[in-house]
Amino acid sequence: MQTPPTTQTHKRVLLKLSGEQFAGDREYGVDPIFVNKLAQELAETIAATNVQLAIIVGGGNIMRGASVAKSGIERATGDYMGMLATLINGMALVDILKANGVPARLQTRVRSDQVAEPFTRGRGLRHLEKGRVVVVAGGTGTPYVTTDTAAVTTALELECDMVIKATKVDGVYDKDPKNHPEAVKHDNLTFGKVLSDPEMNVMDNAAISLAMDNHLPIVIFDLLTRGNIRRVIEGENIGTKVS
Ligand code: UDP
Repeated sequence: MQTPPTTQTHKRVLLKLSGEQFAGDREYGVDPIFVNKLAQELAETIAATNVQLAIIVGGGNIMRGASVAKSGIERATGDYMGMLATLINGMALVDILKANGVPARLQTRVRSDQVAEPFTRGRGLRHLEKGRVVVVAGGTGTPYVTTDTAAVTTALELECDMVIKATKVDGVYDKDPKNHPEAVKHDNLTFGKVLSDPEMNVMDNAAISLAMDNHLPIVIFDLLTRGNIRRVIEGENIGTKVS
């Protein structure tokens, strides 16, 4: 059978969703209305581009290890709590994707047999080849890092062409655009520049170094503008590309 013609430049993409995207307008937890809108957009994007999609979910809308450390909870315990938080978001996302007609599977790097299959590269690749979205929860499965690092390691393991990181701003600026109206957006950045400038808040340095060593491009883009996921996947020059 012939593959349908597509316009997309990127065949397999890893989307990093932060916890804040699950919270929508809320301060905490999961906003199903917002996640439904996102799932609809993903359904349209997959239908239009035929992209194979892996998704890493964050957990900051529920728990971040660093924020509870020194409170009597050990840092590593807090980090595991954060990894479990990503599982909650992943469970919500997979159900809502399925409700929107998108075949999806939840994998996790923190063992949770009742709710998700363990992450394995082989099964992940097979799901992608069969046109299923693979949602990976549990971060890297180890404390002291974040889901940004998990996004890069998973993209490499699943042989993705690039990582696209959804945020609430439309890219990386030379100054904080909230406080500086004259701030200028970078369309393109090098990994070296991002690593050498501590003001540049793209992803944590562990994730950036790993992407640099493995020549994996990262695009930071604004998820709230409808159609942007498709634009990024089709290679339109939006957001900020780090390569
Ligand atoms: N976490 C971890 N190891 C990982 C990924 C996540 O320890 O590989 C923990 C860490 O405490 C982190 C929390 O899980 O703060 C939630 O993940 P993250 O902060 O990356 O979520 P996001 O900012 O994307 O919502």
